[in-house]
Amino acid sequence: MREISHKLAFAHDGKTARYSDVFDPNNGHVQARVALGDKALLDRAVEVAKAAQPAWAAVNPQRRARVMFNFKALVEKNMDELAHLLSSEHGKVIADAKGDIQRGLEVIEFCCGIPHVLKGEHTQGAGPGIDVYSMRQPIGIGAGITPFNFPAMIPLWMSGVAIATGNAFILKPSERDPSVPVRLAELFQEAGLPEGILQVVQGDKEMVDAILDHPDIGAVSFVGSSDIAHYVYKRGVDNGKRVQAMGGAKNHGVVMPDADLDQVVNDLAGAAFGSAGERCMALPVVVPVGEKTALALRQKLIPAIEALRVGVSTDAEAHYGPVVTAAHKAKIESYIQMGVDEGAELVVDGRGFTLQGHEQGFFVGPTLFDHVKPSMRSYQEEIFGPVLQMVRAESFEEALALPSQHQYGNGVAIFTRNGHAAREFAARVNVGMVGINVPIPVPVAYHTFGGWKRSAFGDTNQHGMEGVKFWTKVKTVTQRWPDGGATGDSAFIIPTMG
Ligand code: NAD
Repeated sequence: MREISHKLAFAHDGKTARYSDVFDPNNGHVQARVALGDKALLDRAVEVAKAAQPAWAAVNPQRRARVMFNFKALVEKNMDELAHLLSSEHGKVIADAKGDIQRGLEVIEFCCGIPHVLKGEHTQGAGPGIDVYSMRQPIGIGAGITPFNFPAMIPLWMSGVAIATGNAFILKPSERDPSVPVRLAELFQEAGLPEGILQVVQGDKEMVDAILDHPDIGAVSFVGSSDIAHYVYKRGVDNGKRVQAMGGAKNHGVVMPDADLDQVVNDLAGAAFGSAGERCMALPVVVPVGEKTALALRQKLIPAIEALRVGVSTDAEAHYGPVVTAAHKAKIESYIQMGVDEGAELVVDGRGFTLQGHEQGFFVGPTLFDHVKPSMRSYQEEIFGPVLQMVRAESFEEALALPSQHQYGNGVAIFTRNGHAAREFAARVNVGMVGINVPIPVPVAYHTFGGWKRSAFGDTNQHGMEGVKFWTKVKTVTQRWPDGGATGDSAFIIPTMG
């Protein structure tokens, strides 16, 4: 059995007490097992990181940026290999796996400009002979804990910015698809990153708890489901760390009566079913405004959904592949049953889908519900599968209230030709990332990614300037260089510049 291990900067015999199975979702076989590390392993990784970090922080930012440039070139050179590896453990189709890597690389491109964004602020003559300047210094040692659904993009969101700003970084990827993060760490090393600045520790809750409790880890970035995000946030903050913890989602797409329905159907097909719906920025809820819109949309959606091709992840014609594990498939199917039991109308049923020659693969067919109500649990919770739920609204206000009042607030989209409606919607909706005729509004790397409500705990987003702020501390210096002699009497009142 192939074994997947850590990527450490010290000699390690690879022995471990516990392992977790890694599946091939296309056929349901166990293809490898991953070592699950423990507290002792983390302690050693932190020790090595602690020794290596000061020298890395002292490297000038332009040289740190050069490592980012080299890394980008290496990932591009190895794109095919990385995409196949990613797809073989996750199940997303190859083209989508390349998109996963590419979105991560875009954050690395942002990091190539790190000397520019690390420049501090300066005020000349803030008082008599007094200048004030600020600088951004690394936290020291940071850690990242990532989910299964973007095994390249999310580790790169975190590691890129953390490393470029001068930290040492320890990554704990998902145990369900652990190979790509290790390959990325190897490529970083090949790109010139010194030993100990990026290490990958494999593991599960035991490793996460060790990270959250380690006194020398100053900042933790987490992405995953909301209950665990909340737990990570509370435990990390209790231990005095800086924590950003992104959680689950249930994104809505509001369709106004004037929307271009053919375009909406195209957009929905990709956004609801791409990657088998296993995206935190998927669009699993559609809200047509008005009965006429609902009927017309439903008529166009059904044939589009029935025409979707589900296939193995290496099938270049497939729109999406299997879901990640048998347990996740069972969970999705149980939510479909819940929707039926709650009284929603199951229009297209994706349960029981099998692919010839891959009968044990973790496939779920595309599923459509209509007449879903906000009171239903299957609407309130995240399904994270290829299931689209239609919730009909009578007015713009009713449609606006649905995502605004939902427990999650990651992304939302509105489809319309009316600029005023779009502007109102963007300003008033209680959600962190908004698309206007854009179904998956994942902000570009030099902007910033983060949801609201139970989709994110902590107050700093991923990547862009928010990422730089998360991985650095501001130091502000107030300086005076008296020209010899006494500088005046002692001041017993708070100094002002007035
Ligand atoms: P998950 O919460 O099961 O796992 C995330 C990480 O937490 C993994 O590294 C895992 O090993 C660890 N973990 C699992 N159980 C734990 C426990 N009990 N205690 C401590 N750590 C634990 O999430 P997942 O299934 O891998 O990923 C899918 C979820 O991630 C979805 O909810 C999705 O919406 C969310 N997600 C959110 C964003 C975002 O930016 N908001 C992005 C991608 C995915």
